[in-house]
Amino acid sequence: ATPMSVTVGVGRAAEYGVLIRNAEALQMAAEVDTVVLDKTGTLTEGKPQLVECLTFNGYTRETLLSLAASLEQGSEHPLAKAILDAAKADSLPLQPHGHFAAKPGFGVEGDVAGQNLLLGNQKLLQQHQVDFVAGINDAERISQQGITPIFVAVGNQLAGLLGISDPLRHDSVEAIKRLQAMGLEVIMLTGDIKSTAQAIAAQAGITTVIAGVLPDGKSSQIQALQAEGKKVAMVGDGINDAPALAQSEVGIAMGSGSDVAIESAQLTLVRHSLHGVADALQLSRATLKNMK
Ligand code: ADP
Ligand code: MG
Repeated sequence: ATPMSVTVGVGRAAEYGVLIRNAEALQMAAEVDTVVLDKTGTLTEGKPQLVECLTFNGYTRETLLSLAASLEQGSEHPLAKAILDAAKADSLPLQPHGHFAAKPGFGVEGDVAGQNLLLGNQKLLQQHQVDFVAGINDAERISQQGITPIFVAVGNQLAGLLGISDPLRHDSVEAIKRLQAMGLEVIMLTGDIKSTAQAIAAQAGITTVIAGVLPDGKSSQIQALQAEGKKVAMVGDGINDAPALAQSEVGIAMGSGSDVAIESAQLTLVRHSLHGVADALQLSRATLKNMK
């Protein structure tokens, strides 16, 4: 039978906007020593916006954005939404795309108006042997500001470089301080590139960053931490976080996240705030103490 204090603990957590699936999850949470945070949508607002648009090889901003947004109509990635919003704000015409392929961890590829487009990170352009050297310095400058650089190639030629900003949630810094004050090690885990991730982590007060992780690589990163003896709470919101949430000792999903993430997690944060993580771990420790 579940001890009374645990049942009470689960109820108390709900008052803090933390939904706990079962008593075991609350007991597990008390033993956690490491908190791994996804970046986009977990540490950040998750509402990326286009803040920079550079063009190359004679493309205009209008042509570039219109082509890019036309292709991104096929994607559900938050970055795609930022590009579509920017094209809409400028009232740019969109065209239907032809062939389309999402390349998880890299970007998207497809045809618009009879031309082949690539939109994504440096690795995507490398795979297609596109010469992107003209954009490297700007990409570095953009990423050091914590902004994600997205390259655009048309017909295998560099056409543009977009900067997409996704700021920290207003209370992430405070919540991370609380976690660290509880003696927890806080780690960022993201598919974004290292320099962007490190800049955002620095703003958040996080020193350990695991970046450039492919969508199916997040759960093996958790496994590696567990192999070091760490007891991990993973916090995420995306479809690609689901396996890592399931792998960790305690999976915690943002309530605003995808259904798959919520189903894979033991805890769900109803309020869009990382304070919920600190609340839940504090409560679980207090509850377990009462049982002893
Ligand atoms: P995360 O959500 O943590 O950023 P992803 O694996 O979803 O990780 O994406 C990794 C990288 O792949 C992105 O930072 C971006 O550079 C690129 N990418 C993915 N999807 C798109 C897209 N629809 N448009 C442009 N770039 C994309
Ligand atoms: Mg995310």
